[in-house]
Amino acid sequence: MANSEYRASVPDDWFVDPVRLGVPGVRKADVEENPLAWQTDSLCAQTDPEAFFPEKGGSTREAKKICGSCEVRADCLEYALENDERFGIWGGLSERERRKLRKRA
Ligand code: SF4
Repeated sequence: MANSEYRASVPDDWFVDPVRLGVPGVRKADVEENPLAWQTDSLCAQTDPEAFFPEKGGSTREAKKICGSCEVRADCLEYALENDERFGIWGGLSERERRKLRKRA
């Protein structure tokens, strides 16, 4: 498995402060301009972030399972592709899977 799929810990900037984003399902008008506004409704914000940034050789199954039920999955994947996110699970895909998707596009 490629080393690029893993990092030592969850990045500090993974999530925008939820106080700035607002209540889930009720996005504030002024955060619509924020490219991370969709995180207000993300399921991973309610779970263990370590599952989305597993150690080398760690399982991604639990994170992908959560992504499968997340209503902002498409927004998340689009953000990761547009911003070339190199680590972690975004939109239900690992970095390797996102790289393959970019090549096919
Ligand atoms: S798709 Fe997965 S990583 Fe993205 S916001 Fe939803 S739960 Fe989090």
